[in-house]
Amino acid sequence: MIHRTASSWQRNDKKDHRISLKEINTPSLTWQQHLQQAVTEPTELLSLLSIPHEHLAAAIQASQLFPLKVPKTFLDRIEKGNLNDPLLKQILPIGAESLVVDGFSKDPVEEQKDQPAGMIQKYHGRILLMVNGHCAINCRYCFRRHYPYADNRLNREQWQAAFEQIASDDSISEVIYSGGDPLASSDKQLHWITDHLAQIPHIKRLRIHTRLPVVIPHRITDETLEWMSSTRLSTVVVLHINHANELNDTFLRKQLHKMRLAGITLLNQAVLLKGVNDTIEDLTALSESLFDAGIIPYYLHTLDPVDGAAHFDVEITKAKALHQQMVARLPGYLVPKLVKEEANQPSKTSL
Ligand code: SF4
Repeated sequence: MIHRTASSWQRNDKKDHRISLKEINTPSLTWQQHLQQAVTEPTELLSLLSIPHEHLAAAIQASQLFPLKVPKTFLDRIEKGNLNDPLLKQILPIGAESLVVDGFSKDPVEEQKDQPAGMIQKYHGRILLMVNGHCAINCRYCFRRHYPYADNRLNREQWQAAFEQIASDDSISEVIYSGGDPLASSDKQLHWITDHLAQIPHIKRLRIHTRLPVVIPHRITDETLEWMSSTRLSTVVVLHINHANELNDTFLRKQLHKMRLAGITLLNQAVLLKGVNDTIEDLTALSESLFDAGIIPYYLHTLDPVDGAAHFDVEITKAKALHQQMVARLPGYLVPKLVKEEANQPSKTSL
């Protein structure tokens, strides 16, 4: 049984105003073709979404700080002409990104210090591999918007060295594929990496942090399901969805269903973002829509204070109050943990 909120019915009422798939998408395109056709020019973005020309100069300037990138499969879920659309706010470069704000920096959680290339070990028992430095979408609030991916790209020899390092530390039981977006790599490469990790006896779980299937649902192919489900490792996919409207795509829901049928656990981490999801209605609708799509709400992160994203920041007192309202309104399994990431801590900090 599918429970629908009043706001989700309203969203459907607005569907007529959005760009239809027929207008901009060819259903037979592969995920790689969708990626190649992503919108990277502010003029094209404004034109496709009927955004007034007066916003162009700021969009061009901000996209020089962090490039614009958004596939048309994601644009389809944005209401044309609505500058307050919660999905548009996540991808539209704006003037506020050039503000210098106290407490915000290029490396807010100190990931760029003292780490071997391509690997980050923050917490006991887990190691994070930077599988790919590219994303299908450039989220304006991204805490890695200044990350030096070019210095952290592993060649085959470095991959072998990484496997040896993981094999030599039997305290590690879980490997996390991160990026960028790890699913921007080919299934062939991901299969190869996964096979090597599965040969290390103390590795039990594989966790994949990705936004790509949300942005381009075509990314989940038969080959993807094959390597994810055939490994002896338990596979957990942690998606990144910040607003219920992101799930407003029938094909995406079918793809998520296929992943669950393949035995893959689906979790979600969201970021609390001013103007995107910082109301109790938005957060409740997000949890309910996630569960309808077979995804468990896992984390609600406060914003990492990265340069260029201060306008998304929600005060901690407000974040805690919203979370308390979620606790009061939702069953426990629909309330994500509210957390903050702090450098040099043994775990995320619960708020
Ligand atoms: S998909 Fe994730 S890593 Fe990529 S830009 Fe968005 S938030 Fe950053």
